[in-house]
Amino acid sequence: MSDTLTIALSKGRIFKETLPLLAHAGIEPVDDPETSRKLILDTNQADVKLVIIRASDVPTYVQYGAADLGVAGKDVLMEHGGAGLYEPLDLRIARCRLMVAGREAWTPQTRRLRIASKYVNSARHYFAEQGQQVEIIKLYGSMELAPLVGLSDLIVDVVDTGNTLKANGLKPLDHIADISSRLVVNKASMKRKHARVQAFIDRVAEAVERQQAA
Ligand code: AMP
Repeated sequence: MSDTLTIALSKGRIFKETLPLLAHAGIEPVDDPETSRKLILDTNQADVKLVIIRASDVPTYVQYGAADLGVAGKDVLMEHGGAGLYEPLDLRIARCRLMVAGREAWTPQTRRLRIASKYVNSARHYFAEQGQQVEIIKLYGSMELAPLVGLSDLIVDVVDTGNTLKANGLKPLDHIADISSRLVVNKASMKRKHARVQAFIDRVAEAVERQQAA
């Protein structure tokens, strides 16, 4: 395992948008994760493997060294807290915004507002900064439903076009953070495999710069 470089990725948008960056670093997966059921994908390089996992698990795999590197959204990294990881590069892909949304703008209340979110840490932190007491209700998806059925006053979710909010009669209210995917590196791998990891980071950084310039 020690001379293999393992990169953790999630399916879907992150995988698709990371592929050109990996290609620039000379790495091409042999299987397509959208059609293959394999969780460990071989690449054209015998000593580079991709592990395909849930987006929210990427920081955990990298933190514990089960993967040397990974690609994770800033939203997921903010929830995780970043222990055991370096975050050397903003890949500027899968961009969106972490926002408070609801039926109408909220004003400070003496009662506790109910906030539904899968981003419980970010939500708690944001409302604490605002001096607003809240009760956080952890959900795993379809946050937009919560205010419609009286489960919460507001939600905290990532917003791209805003179409999902609009389709459910919700408005984007407060901007919490700009989100994009980041390259993360296990701290021990950064030391033990420094030359390889740094060369990979440099190639990917070059690909990001080229994409920005195009
Ligand atoms: P929207 O384009 O605002 O309608 O986004 C639709 C849904 O896709 C949102 O509810 C989000 O949960 C999800 N989404 C959009 N962009 C991202 C992203 N960059 N990362 C993760 N989820 C996203």
